[in-house]
Amino acid sequence: MSFIEDGDKEVGSAIKQEYARQSRNLELIASENIVSERVMLAMGSVLTNKYAEGYPGKRYYGGCVEVDVVENIAIERVKKLFGCEYANVQPHSGAQANMAVFFAMLKPGDTVLGMSLDHGGHLTHGSNVNFSGKYFKSLFYGIDKNGYIDYDEVEKLAVSSKPKLIVAGASAYARAIDFKRFREIADKAGAYLMVDMAHIAGLVAAGLHQSPIPFADVVTSTTHKTLRGPRGGIILSSNAFNEKFNFDKAVFPGIQGGPLMHVIAAKAVCFGEALKPEFRVYQKQILDNSKALAAALIEKGFKLVSGGTDNHLMLLDLSDIDISGKELQVRCDEVYITLNKNSIPNDPRSHFITSGVRIGTPAVTARGLKEDDMKKIAQLIWLTVFDFENSADHIRNEVVKICDAHPIYK
Ligand code: PLP
Repeated sequence: MSFIEDGDKEVGSAIKQEYARQSRNLELIASENIVSERVMLAMGSVLTNKYAEGYPGKRYYGGCVEVDVVENIAIERVKKLFGCEYANVQPHSGAQANMAVFFAMLKPGDTVLGMSLDHGGHLTHGSNVNFSGKYFKSLFYGIDKNGYIDYDEVEKLAVSSKPKLIVAGASAYARAIDFKRFREIADKAGAYLMVDMAHIAGLVAAGLHQSPIPFADVVTSTTHKTLRGPRGGIILSSNAFNEKFNFDKAVFPGIQGGPLMHVIAAKAVCFGEALKPEFRVYQKQILDNSKALAAALIEKGFKLVSGGTDNHLMLLDLSDIDISGKELQVRCDEVYITLNKNSIPNDPRSHFITSGVRIGTPAVTARGLKEDDMKKIAQLIWLTVFDFENSADHIRNEVVKICDAHPIYK
């Protein structure tokens, strides 16, 4: 890394410091992960030099022989991984994958039914500060008082409002999502079904969460969360649906210019890793760690939205404790634990303050932590909430001990 610092002191030293921070801190942000060295190297390769507007075999630039090979590998691997007929690996991000699908399938003003941001949905599922709420009419479903999606309510809403598209998928929902039930609802309402599996893509790839592929008309995802690839997006569908809506055209030239070929190479490496048996072992450990952490937090007296977790994340409900999500996030930063504030359903506090935090296990699992470490983490979070003044040094020492025993890169 010193070669960056040697030539550019300011940026090089910030990157070095960030490497030190990631090495020293317990990364509990549910949407983050630690990529393999191969994924990292592919991103830092000469492919970043290449313009390749268009698709393999149909480019607008010369010199695309090798990047065609790379993009075709990425497409074939991701289709095999998720068992689908069609894939587009060019979206620069999850938001752009969703944007391309909306523009391909809908006309401005069409109605979309998605999960409310306040209840765990994503901005791109209809929020009025996002393209999805500005260009389309959005309606929302949420979770019930027990913290679960109420599918009967979703059905009532869908049948009465007749949306053109129903979006299933979430950013902060700790329970398994029943995509089969969503299909039935979409059929009853005469709607298309899009699943955004960004958070759970790794679990789906490993067969540890119901796959949306047999049920959804189109599936989008990021590649950098549980899937453990580079930052980016993908669109998956059937050949028939792609023929009808032309997702390729919606991505380029619809909303993007040249694809990020270095990122597509890193996606290909990530999909290759996800096809190996070790990937399932890793995903299973994410789940085991998540369950162990949730159980340990509950044992300490904490409340979790929905009372637990089925996946890689959980939402700590702080509404009965005299601390906001924002304050806990700041305190955790001070003791080298990284997580994010998150609204809880019917949160009395604003989005900037919140009464909850979201906690996830993909990144700590990638560095090798196991169930026993989860018990220690629950204890450290408890101390951060209830005995911060006295325990801050102790917590920092314990975090450093755990992290030193599990370096992010060997
Ligand atoms: N969809 C879901 C469910 C997400 O959680 C996220 C990101 O958090 C996105 C889409 C957007 O991904 P990106 O940040 O790559 O645009």
